[in-house]
Amino acid sequence: MGSAAGGRLGARLRARVGEQAVRDRALKTLSAGTDVLLKARDEADLIATMCATVVDTGGYRFAWYGRAGNDEEGTVSPVAAAGGAKAYLDGIRITVAEGPYGNGPTGVCLRTGAVHVQPDLQGASAMAPWHSRALASDMISAISLPIYCEGQLDGALTVYGRTRDEFDASAQSLLGRLAEQFGYGLGRLRDQARFRMLAENATDVIYQSDHDGRITWVSPSVTAVLGYEPAALLGTACHLLVHPDDQPTLGAALRGASSAGEMPPVRYLHADGAYRWMDPRVTVTPALGPGGGGAIVGLRDITAEHEAREELAYRAFHDQLTGLRNRASIVAILERAVERIRDDARTVAVLFIDLDNFKVVNDSLGHGAGDVVLARVAERLAAALGPTEHVGRFGGDEFVVVMPAVRDHLEVERTAEWIQAALAPDLTLGEQSIHSSVSIGIALAGPEATAQSLLRDADAALFEAKAGGRDRWHFFDDELRARALERMTLEAEIRDGVRRGEFVAYYQPIVDLRDARVIGHEALVRWHHPVRGVVMPGDFIGVAEASGLISEIGRQVQDQVLAMLAETPLPGYVSVNVSPVQLRQSGWAAALMDAIEAFGVDPRRIAIEVTETAVLDVAVEVVEDLHRLRADGISILLDDFGTGFSSISVLRDLPVSGLKLDRSFVSEVRGVRDTSTVLVQAIGSLATSLELSSVAEGVETEAQREVLLEHGWLVGQGYLFGRPAPEPRLGQVVGV
Ligand code: C2E
Ligand code: CA
Ligand code: CA
Repeated sequence: MGSAAGGRLGARLRARVGEQAVRDRALKTLSAGTDVLLKARDEADLIATMCATVVDTGGYRFAWYGRAGNDEEGTVSPVAAAGGAKAYLDGIRITVAEGPYGNGPTGVCLRTGAVHVQPDLQGASAMAPWHSRALASDMISAISLPIYCEGQLDGALTVYGRTRDEFDASAQSLLGRLAEQFGYGLGRLRDQARFRMLAENATDVIYQSDHDGRITWVSPSVTAVLGYEPAALLGTACHLLVHPDDQPTLGAALRGASSAGEMPPVRYLHADGAYRWMDPRVTVTPALGPGGGGAIVGLRDITAEHEAREELAYRAFHDQLTGLRNRASIVAILERAVERIRDDARTVAVLFIDLDNFKVVNDSLGHGAGDVVLARVAERLAAALGPTEHVGRFGGDEFVVVMPAVRDHLEVERTAEWIQAALAPDLTLGEQSIHSSVSIGIALAGPEATAQSLLRDADAALFEAKAGGRDRWHFFDDELRARALERMTLEAEIRDGVRRGEFVAYYQPIVDLRDARVIGHEALVRWHHPVRGVVMPGDFIGVAEASGLISEIGRQVQDQVLAMLAETPLPGYVSVNVSPVQLRQSGWAAALMDAIEAFGVDPRRIAIEVTETAVLDVAVEVVEDLHRLRADGISILLDDFGTGFSSISVLRDLPVSGLKLDRSFVSEVRGVRDTSTVLVQAIGSLATSLELSSVAEGVETEAQREVLLEHGWLVGQGYLFGRPAPEPRLGQVVGV
């Protein structure tokens, strides 16, 4: 039986030698393992390297790290693996819950939280579900070690050997210490992550939550930022601190569904009951499991920034004074509404609303009162409209209503009526009671409409409503459309004419009424149209002003006048008409002075004519310009005098050197004590007392000349003395 004895001895010897080898390998593994712990950059790195090191230096068949899932059975999912039998894990089913799949080493280890050794995988019935896998992968024995991190079970490290009993007591104790180190390393990495965040910004709040979303750790800064004592938050479900609307956002980030950098701000509840805006950064641990996983969340309080941004965004789309949408916003709404018109059943309507007497309120009660009126009107407008209608302030006292889906005229008319009714009651402002009616221009979108064309049409209709006597509405109709088209064509033609130099200065003499001696000329523009012949100002000035082209026309006329004056020893002055549009352009007066100097003309030979309505409402800068021109020797004549409203104050307040009595007075004088004659007399003596040189316009008959002379008018202009002509008249006018 020597062979039997020899066999037993041999087996024992082999076992002892094997035991020694196992111990050696485990020792090497342990020291290599601690090395790994020091070098790992992050959790994933640590776990993967750990598995690889166990296999490589320990000479084991296979090692993997697994965590239990959140599901009822606690399905274990592998986080990392190393060794020659990776296929072992493919589609493997292991659970923590008791049952056929829960009795392997990993399941038992995670369930009990203790080391579990399986010395003979093939011999154990508990291993039945994995017998064939283990056989195929050349695995004979196994050990599963619980990994604790910061006092909580994180997962299990399961190692497989090629021989039976490979994990004896000493191997167990060494691997056990390795597992401990591993857990410690994990904890240290999490610590580091927390403190890296803390170091980045000391005012951040950092908290750690477990797999259930309960707070397990929170930085002391939470007191300063959110008003809580850190201890009071421990165990609190962190979603309770998050605004209900923001919980999905944060939830997605916690499930690892969104990347941290792109997260929108999230509101957290402050202890005072108000929400604060936070910029969250979420670090999710690789898999969720009981005692493991969860998240580390860094929060930066961005309430101030967020509110500032919101305010800016609000301001970008709202009018400060009234809180209504502003121009940009209402145009955007209109554009969208126009894009959405799909069928013929409904269309978009635009109502352009303008307060009738706002200027009077502003002028008489001041801008403060004007602002109050605008704000009240805005309130009433907003209240008068339905939920689908949008109102915005377009600037000044103009408001725009957009109705995105109207069926017919009647529906829009009802809204217009409704608006007028809402604004009809007088507004009281302290002692004052203000009546504010509105005029409304309405445009309905046709098939070709754009936001811009609708606004233009509604504006044209508004003009019509105002011209029709205010306090009414007007639809943009075919007639207006035709007129608008005509205007557009004319504008294009004027533009061409300006380019080709078709605008020519004509001169009408201004004479001494007593002897018809020429004392000056008025320059009047004529358009030498290539097809239509000579076109009169009345046919194009309006469009030229509306399009701004009048400025260029005015400059061309002015240069022609200056060139003529530079060449001709013409007696007296030439007066040039200046449009309100030009007046309002900064630098206009300086340009005139420059031109006068460039042509070498004496400024005293130049007068400008401005209408009283044009200078009534001008900015301080324009008045300063006029003073400067006057100081340089240029005369300023108030044109069409008597047709405006506050003529007398204008004469007193502005640097005016004379006035031109409107033709309507002259044409009506009959020499008896009719109203016009009385006015001619009154204005004459006013001009004399203010030492203003005055010119009576439109003198057509000898009788008119006599009446004017009788009432103190010494200077006149009219067909009686000469029609506007391409050349100025030299010397005395004959034929009177
Ligand atoms: P305005 O400044 O009041 O010019 C006087 C107008 O009365 C001129 O008409 C002139 O031809 C006309 N007129 C002169 N004497 C008589 C008369 O005895 N009877 C009648 N029925 N009419 C007379 P015009 O040239 O057609 O100009 C019309 C308006 O166009 C001017 O009114 C002025 O406001 C504007 N305008 C003319 N030229 C210019 C210009 O160069 N620049 C600017 N901005 N406006 C101009
Ligand atoms: Ca004039
Ligand atoms: Ca005039």
